[in-house]
Amino acid sequence: MRGMRKGTTAVAFFLCAVVPGFAQLPQFKPGFNLFSKDQDVQLGKESAGQIEKQVEVVNNKELTDYIANIGKKLAAQPQADKYPYTFKVVNDKSINAFALPGGPAFVHTGLIAAADNEAQIAGVLAHEITHVALRHGTNQVSKANLIQLPAMLASQKLGGGILGQLGQLGIGLGANSLLLKFSRTAETQADLMGAQIAAQAGYDPVEMARFFEKLEAGGGQRGPQFLSDHPNPGNRMKAIQDMIKQMPQRNYAGDSGQLARMKTLVAGIPAPKKTMAQAQAQEQAQGQQQGGTATTPAGLSLPNSRPSGRMQQFQGKEFRISYPENWQTAPSQDNSSVTIAPPSGAQQGQNGLSVGYGTIVAFYKPQNANVSLWQATDELVSQLRGGDPSMRAGRDMPVETRVGGKSAIVTSLYANSIFQGQTELDRLVTVAHPSGIMYIVFISPDSERQYVDQAFNQMLRSVQFSF
Ligand SMILES: [Zn+2]
Repeated sequence: MRGMRKGTTAVAFFLCAVVPGFAQLPQFKPGFNLFSKDQDVQLGKESAGQIEKQVEVVNNKELTDYIANIGKKLAAQPQADKYPYTFKVVNDKSINAFALPGGPAFVHTGLIAAADNEAQIAGVLAHEITHVALRHGTNQVSKANLIQLPAMLASQKLGGGILGQLGQLGIGLGANSLLLKFSRTAETQADLMGAQIAAQAGYDPVEMARFFEKLEAGGGQRGPQFLSDHPNPGNRMKAIQDMIKQMPQRNYAGDSGQLARMKTLVAGIPAPKKTMAQAQAQEQAQGQQQGGTATTPAGLSLPNSRPSGRMQQFQGKEFRISYPENWQTAPSQDNSSVTIAPPSGAQQGQNGLSVGYGTIVAFYKPQNANVSLWQATDELVSQLRGGDPSMRAGRDMPVETRVGGKSAIVTSLYANSIFQGQTELDRLVTVAHPSGIMYIVFISPDSERQYVDQAFNQMLRSVQFSF
């Protein structure tokens, strides 16, 4: 039976995609991301492992199968992008559900108890699947950590856990985590693509909107955790209904008719020993303790960081650059970006892996593909400033130049240096790339210009691109 239903769904989707009479449904693509898809999956596995230590995963096979079967139908839709999804039930009375990068999804027993019908549960799961497929969690982490992440993700080659590394940047799974709390744009996408996924799997997508409305209406003082992690992007109900109008009419036959039975099962589960909220509070307290001890004095040294006169070459995926022999390279897995820094010029500390002396070559994809190099540079600068509140405009106006035979813009920025009491000068060079911009950041304390200017100029002149 299930096979047949799946078959008809696939045909319906196929028709809607090719028959010109139907309005073209909006399609969504993942945004800028420094993680690879495999790294999303690895991060999700590590995170799920940690969460399952903190909460009580329900062991009732009937209930778990029920949620997993709904999840499977949704995950089979093309928009879900074939991530290794898993679906588990958490014993927690609060109304919540969440998904981690790469696929692990969790539904609280409180949400099952609160749902009026199966389509509401399916709608929430389809919404969560969209966050996974569009990689919203790692997109947010990428945008907030443009400087630190390329080197950090590169060090993954050495086998450390990604979650542990993100912890160094102050990113965990606690309340307000960048991995679990989404922007309004991400919410709009999750609502609209979630509605498509739910409908294709045989569930009336209007029920997702009804469920959100119900949560808002009955929210109480702070509202359920679900709404604080998935804020209403505005006119949620109307946007979903407008989306439904564009979709082909269907018979929604997905309901298994078992929800009442599941509610009885949920009601019979004893209260958990520990809830997610308690676990998060505990994690946060631990994080503060760790933060306190993580400020071990590293071997930061200005004289040791200064570039030697001799240069060697780094070959990246689409660029080549010379760099001082006494600096080290930390390329990304596919060599598309690299951090080049002296060991005494970078620090793993309270605020994550910070480069105070060195050079970063990386790629940035603007939100809108059709922007000029100037506009894309502006967007990158505001992203960088979002990741470092101390960052501000430098004393030089941005200027156009040529690098590696291509037009480039040089923007100078100031920030607080990891070298105490020093002002950091970041010279940002941006070059147009067919699918975004390549950027090079030359980083040093402002007071070190006499030692670095020659080396930085030499590095910039050595740059060659192959795109
Ligand atoms: Zn959401």
